Amino acid sequence: MPEIKIDKEKCKSCMICASVCPKKLIKLNQKDTNHAGNKYVEFCDEKNECLGCALCAISCPDMAIYEVLK
Ligand code: SF4
Ligand code: SF4
Repeated sequence: MPEIKIDKEKCKSCMICASVCPKKLIKLNQKDTNHAGNKYVEFCDEKNECLGCALCAISCPDMAIYEVLK
């Protein structure tokens, strides 16, 4: 089933990916920061809803979503 891989060290928590995901599967990690001190997002898909559409990866200005597995 589809899934995405996020490089948390590149993420700046702009939330663009989360806003474009049709299934709303990308959430902000509220507890932790990366090495740059930025919050980062995580892929949360307990119900296996990801479409593998790659909209999230295409939209990330920092190319932090580096892989979409279909
Ligand atoms: S591949 Fe599509 S459905 Fe899956 S997390 Fe990205 S935008 Fe959402
Ligand atoms: S679009 Fe990229 S930088 Fe912005 S929150 Fe998503 S993964 Fe992080």
